Amino acid sequence: MHADVIVIGGGLMGCSIAYRLAKDGARVLVLERSIPGAEASSAAAGILGPTVESFGDALALQLGRRSRELHAELADELDELFGVDVGFRRCGVVKLAFSDEELAELDGQASSLELHGIRCDRWSSEDLRHEEPAANPEALGALSISEDAQVEPKKLLSAVALGAEREGASFRSGSTVRAVNVEGGRARGVQLGDEVLEAERVVVAAGSWTTLIPGLPFDSETIYPVRGQMIATHTRPPIFRRIVFGAGGYVVTRPDGRVLCGSTTERVGFERGITFGGMADVIGKATRIAPALASAAIEEHWSSFRPGTPDGLPLVGETRIEGLLLASGHYRNGILLAPLTAELVSDAMAGNPLSREAQALSPHRFEEPAR
Ligand SMILES: Cc1cc2nc3c(=O)[nH]c(=O)nc-3n(C[C@H](O)[C@H](O)[C@H](O)COP(=O)(O)OP(=O)(O)OC[C@H]3O[C@@H](n4cnc5c(N)ncnc54)[C@H](O)[C@@H]3O)c2cc1C
Repeated sequence: MHADVIVIGGGLMGCSIAYRLAKDGARVLVLERSIPGAEASSAAAGILGPTVESFGDALALQLGRRSRELHAELADELDELFGVDVGFRRCGVVKLAFSDEELAELDGQASSLELHGIRCDRWSSEDLRHEEPAANPEALGALSISEDAQVEPKKLLSAVALGAEREGASFRSGSTVRAVNVEGGRARGVQLGDEVLEAERVVVAAGSWTTLIPGLPFDSETIYPVRGQMIATHTRPPIFRRIVFGAGGYVVTRPDGRVLCGSTTERVGFERGITFGGMADVIGKATRIAPALASAAIEEHWSSFRPGTPDGLPLVGETRIEGLLLASGHYRNGILLAPLTAELVSDAMAGNPLSREAQALSPHRFEEPAR
């Protein structure tokens, strides 16, 4: 098949873009060096929590809230079309305070969210005990925001990949792109070992590895890996109803009682693995949030790399090389921002005028000048 668009990377970003562009009518080929979902997208907790992650940044908050609502629509669509439940639940989030200083911070966060018309409830320790009895009784109070949600990233990724294939996109696993081929200031396709694949457009969605791919007009360290370690267990009954943040970590509860605890943020390059220090850190945060977890069995642990950027925002859209687009660098919010990213890439391909949001995420801000 001759593709109109080659997407490099089969994480949630690459799969979401493939689904969206295939629905737009493009012939899409996704090249994945391992298998779809091999990296960060399967490691994520699935928190769709812009009010906690981005409350201090109006633009990031707005982008996150929009994308969270696109998730709600996408979940309905995937259920209707393919009968797949991706675990989207508007469960809400709670943030605990363990000191007067943290209580004051929660007040500041609530005021800033209320300015954006977001409803927040300030809970006393008694309210907290009533609403989430497993929360640490040492918490002095909490902030509850009901509009945030969660999704199950692995289920979402398989459903979106399935959707993309049903819409005619092709996937090639085990295909490591060695370079993007550029001639006369235009992307012509990619290099796969000795094989050359041609396409009018190339979208690089290779997560933490994006700017390592030769042929891109970026310093190789523009997008860099930030390791996160996680632990999972089960509790019966499910330990919390909401996603609970506190002590620098979080506890996410699925309806079947599965509990995900995170996470570390480590600049250790591409060093894979689980460390004693990382586990101690995650366990310390999780048991501070929910002391009962101290007696839970560790069922799984894993780590992966969040794609970090110098300003904390992703790089989405066209580069100065015609036909070459980026969709990467989503750091802690790549699951949240995947549907919005797919929409922005689709808009850029259609030549639609750039919205204010799209301008803010433009890769041009980190591009190396042409030589
Ligand atoms: C522990 C942890 C918890 C997280 N929790 C959340 C959360 O709760 N909510 C949230 O919104 N976000 C969360 N994130 C962040 C989120 O997981 C990422 O931002 C998101 O998954 C990035 O998706 P991606 O598709 O860009 O990258 P990835 O999922 O890493 O996919 C990139 C793909 O590109 C492939 N690739 C790389 N190089 C090449 C090449 N040369 N040729 C072909 N293929 C290539 C890789 O094999 C990989 O499959 C978390 C991340 C971590 C690590």
